[in-house]
Amino acid sequence: MKKIIILGSTGSIGTQAVDVIEAHPQLFTLAAVAAHSNWELAARQIQAHGAAFACMTDEPAAEKLRQEVGERCTVFSGPEGLLKLIDECEADMVLTSLVGAAGIEPTLHAIEKGLDIALANKETLVAAGELVMAEAARRGVRILPVDSEHGAIFQCLEGRSGSEVDKLLITASGGPHFHRPLEEFPSITVEQCLKHPTWNMGGKITIDSATMFNKGLEVIEAHWLFDMPYDRIEVVVQPQSIIHSMIQFTDGSVLAQLGMPDMRLPIQYAFTYPQRYPVRGAKAIDWKTLGSLEFFAPDPEKFPSLPLAYEAGKAGGTMPCVLNGANEVAVYAFLRREISFTRIFDVVRTVMERHTVCRDVSLDAIRSADAWARRCAASLL
Ligand code: NDP
Ligand code: MG
Repeated sequence: MKKIIILGSTGSIGTQAVDVIEAHPQLFTLAAVAAHSNWELAARQIQAHGAAFACMTDEPAAEKLRQEVGERCTVFSGPEGLLKLIDECEADMVLTSLVGAAGIEPTLHAIEKGLDIALANKETLVAAGELVMAEAARRGVRILPVDSEHGAIFQCLEGRSGSEVDKLLITASGGPHFHRPLEEFPSITVEQCLKHPTWNMGGKITIDSATMFNKGLEVIEAHWLFDMPYDRIEVVVQPQSIIHSMIQFTDGSVLAQLGMPDMRLPIQYAFTYPQRYPVRGAKAIDWKTLGSLEFFAPDPEKFPSLPLAYEAGKAGGTMPCVLNGANEVAVYAFLRREISFTRIFDVVRTVMERHTVCRDVSLDAIRSADAWARRCAASLL
């Protein structure tokens, strides 16, 4: 029986993870839930699954949750409450499905405690990949990818030596604007971005998918997870989101992982690895009606996010952290309708241009680079 902590239990990934846990009561228990402010849903999750620990990073929401659940659940509060929850709750694994750089410290804390990580929160690896991977190696902790592309590569790589692999081919849906003419990009609205063709996700990653910064973040995530140089990671647009990613061997042969777009598959596999179990209600690919699979190269003029991410990744040190912090600020400003769609690219580019890379990637250095990037981005809005 695996005891799982879900950080970000009320979000898109978090609720699907609760569904996976509920479908396999013989395999998992929900040890703790954590979210920012949605205490009503957290209360329902605690009542339904008997989680004994919880955290709301928003203080008033934590107080409401305490009143709702009473003695049966210990409720921590604030960002430091996430660390206390990890300390107090005896668990086997942490799913990091909270959004943004807020995931860095709880992820590192869970690694220090020796807990395996099911990692959805890609921003943590983008901002602090070097530190997180080094800590995980030092503590013998497994980082199991939940992001569907990385879950796919992880499955393709299983049991193979890195020297056989020529490159990683990360697939992208291309998002809702892939076929839109470049001239229309400055006037793209929030509503046009929220209609993602293949996935139903939280607000931040939905905008990241529309700008393709999501794919840029995933390139950096793949670099750290699979220890692969950037010039051997390629992005391939596969609009149907059936091929979740591929690896190409040195002899040119390609191995792909396919499946219907359903995040419960990679979530569950991260929970049960190396075993496989049925996913409740999941649909298999219907080959009779699937039709064709298309492939395109991404357009760097429409999506400068991709060259910026490669640039940040290759610069190394604190630069990916700065790209991530600036992007977070710009995305939320776009969601509040304060800046245009293409301004997101400008803000990230300018913040990166103004940054002097620091080679120190300690937690303090990452914290201060992230804070600097946010201030710099905010000053540009
Ligand atoms: P959502 O916005 O749907 O959910 C975010 C969750 O994190 C909510 O539970 C939210 O709580 C909580 N949260 C937000 N801010 C904080 C904070 N500062 N401290 C603690 N908890 C916080 O996001 P998604 O589920 O879509 O994405 C989560 C992560 O998974 C992201 O890093 C994303 O990139 C990654 N991911 C998501 C995929 C998807 O299909 N959705 C696919 C692959 C990766 P509350 O509800 O109270 O606000
Ligand atoms: Mg993904």
